This record gives sequence, structure tokens and C-alpha cells, in this order.
Amino acid sequence: MTKAISPRPRKVRVLATLGPASNSPDMIATLFEAGADAFRINMSHGDQQSKIAVIQAIRAMEKEFGRPTTILADLQGPKLRVGKFAAGKVELKTGTTFLLDRDTTPGDATRVELPHREIFEGIETGARLLLDDGKLVLRVTGHGPTQIETVVVVGGMLSNNKGLNVPDVVLPMAALTDKDRSDLDFAVDQGVDWIALSFVQRPEDLWEARKLIGGKAALLAKIEKPAAIDRLEEIVEACDGVMVARGDLGVEMPPQAVPPLQKRIVEVARRMGRPVVVATQMLESMITSPSPTRAEVSDVATAIYDGADAIMLSAESAAGDWPVESVAMMNAIGVSVEGDPEHGDRMHFTVMKPDPTTADALAEAAKNIAATVDAVAIICFTTSGSTPRRIARERPGVPLLVLTPSLETARRLGLLWGTHAVHTRDVESFEDMVGKSKRMALRHNMAKAGDRVIVMAGVPFRTPGSTNVLHVVRIVGDELKGRK
Ligand code: PGA
Ligand code: MN
Repeated sequence: MTKAISPRPRKVRVLATLGPASNSPDMIATLFEAGADAFRINMSHGDQQSKIAVIQAIRAMEKEFGRPTTILADLQGPKLRVGKFAAGKVELKTGTTFLLDRDTTPGDATRVELPHREIFEGIETGARLLLDDGKLVLRVTGHGPTQIETVVVVGGMLSNNKGLNVPDVVLPMAALTDKDRSDLDFAVDQGVDWIALSFVQRPEDLWEARKLIGGKAALLAKIEKPAAIDRLEEIVEACDGVMVARGDLGVEMPPQAVPPLQKRIVEVARRMGRPVVVATQMLESMITSPSPTRAEVSDVATAIYDGADAIMLSAESAAGDWPVESVAMMNAIGVSVEGDPEHGDRMHFTVMKPDPTTADALAEAAKNIAATVDAVAIICFTTSGSTPRRIARERPGVPLLVLTPSLETARRLGLLWGTHAVHTRDVESFEDMVGKSKRMALRHNMAKAGDRVIVMAGVPFRTPGSTNVLHVVRIVGDELKGRK
């Protein structure tokens, strides 16, 4: 049985990427205490062996604090990179020609290896090659089976293995590389809760990953390719959660295209009831500074006003000088924005029409009843987690206390807006349901004597997928007497 811990003082979730600055058991616990609800392990860096200790540290921390904690393993996907240079780096001068080829000899200022056969197959004259997050730009002037000739449009320093984006052509790349398949198997074996797929282009990419995951983890689609925007609804439908991956998206598309897309992706995901994470450069300056820029704070606030489920830290928490301060700042922005009396109305700018199902009718009713009777929480018994997803979709004015006999479900819910999930035994009768709701609301500091809460469950009890009861309960205050 879990210990009690107060819910977070905000509904938006904080997802913190772990890395060299935060991989230690002490730092993981400190980040959790500062407000991290979920941890992202980036499979692009380091080997599998090094991840085992990190996953074990999170699970040990989870036990110590008694809070189900979400682990997301982020697969690298078909990320393109240039080869190495003899001098480690070179300067590409604007207006000069530069060759990309299949020769593994270290490169210089005239050429470098490009270790991706598919680019040579799919490239077209006139296409742009963007290097190092778009800092350098090459334009293709000619190409053959083993070389691509370019002219440097925007020059600069280029070092070993820098990333490459080819936004103008759809390349014949598989969504899952051999490394991704191996990392996916590894992550599922290690019991992570979510798998994130990078550079998704088509819904089929997700079907393939889902087959390999075999129901052992939830699947998150990173939206960072123009092709994914073209089929956004289908892609959101095919996954369990979405990430607005603004880093690569803002390289593949002009940066000014990203804010409207962010709004659209968040809205589509919210409508479809999929948790949505807004990611990348949220508090970028905190990699080296203990306080963020005002513009960054405003950006995080915008994601929260838009109703995103979660906000993410990348290098800020993985490799920066101020990981704890970054998490604490995310937490503080969440508290501030959600404390704005206008927050609810601004978030409900996205109008949610319930689907014609019992679950959605009850979810909408729960939100309305909570407001009418001034309840302090919605308590939900669930096995699969589908009922809390539909309730959170309504973005009610009160937090959700989710009680589930499935530890896996409790962990997966860590990316869901407003949800405090507790792993606990199932109830067997109506009296049991009411009694347990009252006790858990008190124990988890979500209600006090005199408060009302809304309770939702399925009857018959212990039957998944049957939520059909909504009950308003008044807490007396002596429910915990005589109980440990
Ligand atoms: P990455 O994904 O950090 O794995 O590249 C996020 C992004 O591109 O924004
Ligand atoms: Mn990316």
C-alpha cells in the first residue's frame, strides 16, 4: 500500500529529461521533489547498459516516495548525421561548393561522408540540406549514387556528427532503425511506461511500433516532420499521446510556422483525448543561467493556457548547470498560470464536445456537477485508465484522484493533465467505494471535513470498461479514525 503524498499544486505535468547532469539517484529524487512528474530517457545518447541504473534509480525513488512515476523512453528515430572531420570541425564558407559522399575518410572543408544511403536515393537538385539545427544551409546543385554536390548558402562551423535535416523531400526512410528496434525491446524489457517515436511521418509508422511494444507500454508520437502535419488527425488517432517536438519541427519548417502548429497539435490532441507534451527550448537559457528569460517564461505559460497536458525540459535538466532550478521554475509557472482566475476560460477556448458515449456523458457531467456543488475533487476508480483520460479531456476545474489496482496504469497516467494516480486495491461494493473515496481523499490531502467530492466507478465492480456511476459524497472528517 502506498504512503500518502500531497498532489502537485498544479494540473499541468512536468516531464524532465535525464542525462549527465541528473542521472544520479540523488538528483532524480531532488528533481521529483522539485516537481518532476515524469522522466524522459533519451535513447539518442549513451548505451543501453547505462540506462539500466537510471531506470532502477527511478523505481527505487518511486518506492521511497510511494508515488507511481512515469518513465518515457525516447527512441532516436531516423535522425540524419554527417560523418567525421580530420580536424574535428571545419569552417564552411558561404558561396563555396561542398561535397557529401559515401567515402569514410575523415572530411575537410571540401567534403564529408554522409552515412545514409537513403538520402542519395531520394535527394533532388534544388533541395536544401540543413546542418546543425539549421544553422548552416546547403543547396543541392547535382547528385549521383555516391555523391551530392552542394553550394553553401549559409556558412559557419561544422563539427563531427552534426545533425542534418532534409525538409524539401520525403526520403525513403524506415520509421524504426535497427537501433530503434533494439532500444524499443530493451526499454519494454526494462518496464518503461511510454515509448516515444521520433520523426513519425505516417500512421503506419505507429502501427509498426505498437506491434513491437505488444501492449507493454503506451506509445507517444513526436510531431517534428512536415509530413506528420499533413496527416495529423490520423497520427493522433493511432497513438496514445503526442509531443510537439519544436526542436526539429522548427528546423524542418520556418520557426514562425511553429506557434500556429503548436496550437493546432495541442487542440487536435485535446479533442481526441490524447495527452499532449509541449517540448524543446522551453527554458533554454537555464542551461547556463539560474533564471530564465521573460520570453521563455511567457512561452511556458502559453503552453499551459493552451491546455497542454505536460511541459518538457530537455538539456535544461539533462545536461545543464541548473536542473533543479529549471524544474522548480516549471512548477512555479504552472502554479502562477493556473492561479489566474482567467486560466480556465482561456483553456476552454478549445470547446470540447463529448463523444456520444456513456463515458463522455459522465465525464462532462462530473465537470459540471463539480462546479455546481463546489466539489474539491473528482475521484475515479479505473483499471485501464480510459475513464480518467476522458475526464481530463474535459479539463474540469478540480483535480482528479485516480484509484487503480494496476500499477502500470497509475504510472502511465503521469503525463495526464490534473491527475494524481494512486495504486491501491479495487473496491467490491458501493459502501466500499464510498468509504474508500473518503479515506483516500483525506489521506492524499485532496479534501477535508465538510468538502464534497464526486466519485465515479463502474458497476458491477471489478469489471473493466464499465464506468456508469457518478455519486456526490460529503466528507465528514472522521473517516480515518481507527485506521492505519
Ligand atoms: P529531440 O526531440 O530532443 O529528441 O530531438 C525533440 C524535438 O525535436 O523538439
Ligand atoms: Mn527531435
